Amino acid sequence: MMTENAALMQRDLAVLWHPCTQMKDHEWLPLLPIRRGEGVWLEDFEGKRYLDAISSWWVNLFGHANPRINAALKQQLDTLEHVILAGFTHRPAIELSERLVQLTPPGLDRVFFADNGSAGIEVALKMSYHYWRNSGKPQKTRFITLSNSYHGETLGALAVGDVALYKETYKPLIMEVITVSSPDAWYREPGESAADCACRRFTAMRQALERHAQETAAVIVEPLVQCAGGMRMYDPIYLRLLREACNQYEVHLIADEIAVGFGRTGTLFACEQAGVTPDFMALSKGLTGGYLPLCAVLTTDSIYQAFYDDYQNLTAFLHSHSYTGNPLACRAALATLDIFASDPVLENNRRLARRMKQATESLKDHPRVMEVRQTGMILAIELIKDKRSREPYPWQERRGLRVYQHALKRGALLRPLGNVIYFMPPYVITPEQIDFLAEVAREGIELATAEGS
Ligand SMILES: *Cc1c(COP(=O)(O)O)cnc(C)c1O
Repeated sequence: MMTENAALMQRDLAVLWHPCTQMKDHEWLPLLPIRRGEGVWLEDFEGKRYLDAISSWWVNLFGHANPRINAALKQQLDTLEHVILAGFTHRPAIELSERLVQLTPPGLDRVFFADNGSAGIEVALKMSYHYWRNSGKPQKTRFITLSNSYHGETLGALAVGDVALYKETYKPLIMEVITVSSPDAWYREPGESAADCACRRFTAMRQALERHAQETAAVIVEPLVQCAGGMRMYDPIYLRLLREACNQYEVHLIADEIAVGFGRTGTLFACEQAGVTPDFMALSKGLTGGYLPLCAVLTTDSIYQAFYDDYQNLTAFLHSHSYTGNPLACRAALATLDIFASDPVLENNRRLARRMKQATESLKDHPRVMEVRQTGMILAIELIKDKRSREPYPWQERRGLRVYQHALKRGALLRPLGNVIYFMPPYVITPEQIDFLAEVAREGIELATAEGS
């Protein structure tokens, strides 16, 4: 008889089409049906457990089936599941907006809701362009973006991203942007600090602004960590320089904190480490603790005012989603913020981050590990074919995938980005569980980098 796992996999493969997946892989790569989650653990239909080291694509903060978030959601469910947000409003949307305005850097005083990260990026891009149009500068239609950036996969969000894997195929469908080389500390010269590297590489941004400011609405960046681009990291000084230059050249700064927000980088928001307030900040993923899709786009009062006028002048912002500001999603976000308010989350994370560093320290000397880098609760291990020449493993060899497969065998969900193995765990992980992950990663790396393996 077929196991329940296998039976569900068979039913799934008969009807579903999975994200970011070559479906043919599942001829040999098992698909894992999950029965339940609890804390850092996911459990399949045979009772095997997997430690969710990547927070289910970076969304989960306080564990699966968190009792506090569950309780808040159950109550909301019995009160109001959804209502149109145009012409109507509700407590969860109001309270969440108030609290986000309070928590985010000073000056971000308005909240616009979208249904997911990509949709939120579309909102920020449209709002920025529309602001300039309402302000008598309709020629500002372009966007500046960093190399290796990722902002989602709808067409506008894809256009301002730069990860070839997602973008290349769809290029004929999307708008052209101005791409500037990123401040990525990976490109440090020998002896150069990450800060010096960021300053040096800022020259390209200054030049782009100088040349294109007249036609540019905004610069969009992922503050401190380019997550989908392989957890590449850079020094906060870059954000400070960028904020000053954007002011100077009258170009908006959009901070996409969809992945790095809510404590991932060590501060509640990554922008805090540079002491900057962007003109737009997009928050999603961890916003609802990993429960429901929701994005909040925050902006300044002066941008809001450029849309505020008599109806006949047609300056209103035009964007809507059916589920805008869904009460259940907002309630999950409020319950998540309650945990930040009542528990010393960031302080605990500092301890956990130190443990992640200690547990992986020795991997630095591994002949196939180029770098172990970390920003707060994100730690990445980049594999390399040749350390001296920095020749990467050909992507076709899918070395990272072997680490993934090994980890599953050992009871951990460690889904890599190409040749980058990373930990981005829920904040409820224990020090011992971090040690376990490091052990599993080490074993996986040994297997994956054995010659020709
Ligand atoms: C995940 C992500 C997005 C897209 O969010 P979705 O909800 O997946 O559409 C945008 N920007 C960044 C930085 C992300 O990590």
